[in-house]
Amino acid sequence: MNDSSPTQDPEKETETETETETEIPQDHPRYQSLITRHRIEEGVDTGITSPQGLIAEGRGEAFDYLLGEKTTSSADDAARAAAALLLHAEHPVISVNGNVAALVPEAIVELAEVVEADIEVNLFNRTEKRMNAIADHLYDHGAQTVKGLKADDQIPGLDHERGTVDADGIGAADVVLVPLEDGDRAAALDAVGKREIVIDLNPLSRSALAATVPIIDNVIRAVPNITEHASALKQADNVALTTVINRFDADEVRERAEQEIRRGELRSS
Ligand code: ATP
Repeated sequence: MNDSSPTQDPEKETETETETETEIPQDHPRYQSLITRHRIEEGVDTGITSPQGLIAEGRGEAFDYLLGEKTTSSADDAARAAAALLLHAEHPVISVNGNVAALVPEAIVELAEVVEADIEVNLFNRTEKRMNAIADHLYDHGAQTVKGLKADDQIPGLDHERGTVDADGIGAADVVLVPLEDGDRAAALDAVGKREIVIDLNPLSRSALAATVPIIDNVIRAVPNITEHASALKQADNVALTTVINRFDADEVRERAEQEIRRGELRSS
């Protein structure tokens, strides 16, 4: 038996590296962070995530560390308001980029089913190859329809590549969930009257500031949490949903998150 065989074939080596998610022990003190890194790395390997996605992930991890890598009560309040907004919407759309596709493909499909939202791929660095790779990845995880490939509409105020959307997707949406959105695009969607739910670990990012509902949490925890709240609110009527939405105070949530980060009560592990 030649135990040096894994290093003889570079492709085989990559395959072995990307198959290790199940090998990360669940009781590892940094389990979630290791899984997250692994998924992003795998996303880059398979062409779903851009190399810049690695940098975005690193920036997010720093904030998550200071939040104790847990969903805070303010983030949970925001997730409930997000669920109400999605259920109340006429035409909700979930926008998916490379990091989101790599991190939470199944959770996105589940949320879309519960709140009856469209899923649309929307990329900062748009290439047809990556758009198709992400759409295929979402279909592999159970999506029925993935929008974003028609590219027949434009959000005003953005250059062509970054403003391109589907007319019957984000173009027609009244509420858009934009996890990990770039600040310019979040502001441009806001300017055309779309109500935005942003998931971003940085409460001071331009996207979090532009959001109707900012959820200051890791997308890995936030997306299933919105689904859980949506399932609980599914039978609520429009009056009850409107009450949840109107009671939500975005400034207060951003402020509470910032204070939690500044206090930085780190996990002991
Ligand atoms: P903005 O343009 O909105 O001011 P930015 O330029 O910092 O923000 P990017 O670098 O494009 O934005 O994206 C990184 C953002 O995504 C950071 O704010 C980071 O905190 C956040 N982020 C990265 N990974 C995650 C994650 N897994 N969950 C939630 N947020 C994340």
